[in-house]
Amino acid sequence: MQYISSHNIYIGKLGIYTGNELSAIDKIEYEWKRSRSRYSKYNLIEIFPEAKPVILKKIKEKISFQKQELKMFQDKEEEICGKIEEVPTKDRWFWIIAAQIFIGSKIKILEKELKQNVFFLSMLRGKNPHGDKRVTPQHIERAKQVPLTNFLEVNSNGFAVCPFHINDNTPSLKYYKAQNTWWCFAENIGGDTIDFYEQKFGVKFIEAVQQLCQNQN
Ligand SMILES: [Zn+2]
Repeated sequence: MQYISSHNIYIGKLGIYTGNELSAIDKIEYEWKRSRSRYSKYNLIEIFPEAKPVILKKIKEKISFQKQELKMFQDKEEEICGKIEEVPTKDRWFWIIAAQIFIGSKIKILEKELKQNVFFLSMLRGKNPHGDKRVTPQHIERAKQVPLTNFLEVNSNGFAVCPFHINDNTPSLKYYKAQNTWWCFAENIGGDTIDFYEQKFGVKFIEAVQQLCQNQN
């Protein structure tokens, strides 16, 4: 929401609010946004399987483009590293920072995106990219559906004591039953059962999915 503020008075399109009123409205807005169903690309393919061939084609194009882009940045990195050795020692700091900011961070992002797309492609082709670990979109769906109430004691208002921050005397973790999602209003973090499990048990995504599915069986 957009407001003009002055002395704890906020003027918006629809009226004038105090700071407290505004933060109450913001919370309601946040809850509303959190409570809407969100679909992952895996859900969308299940809902609309006809789109699969087009998505396969697009994702292959994307991967080949990303590979080219990555190659370009890696060449650039090599070039800049060469420069660092050419310039006098006192000027090297400039090229080192330039390499980190303009090249290093970009390469990291590209590598991550490429990895995600390659993973997605093998999922689409029905292959299992994790070999014997056997995590499929179906496993992810099943893990998400494990009720959060297995791990949380929810009161009649739908709130629970948040296990992720200390001294949560007034329960600040809201449980959204219909979506089986959670949100901690003290820390502004939340998500589904997989997110919760990862945090609570300090495990990685794949392990969280596997363990949630195992416990369900
Ligand atoms: Zn919390």
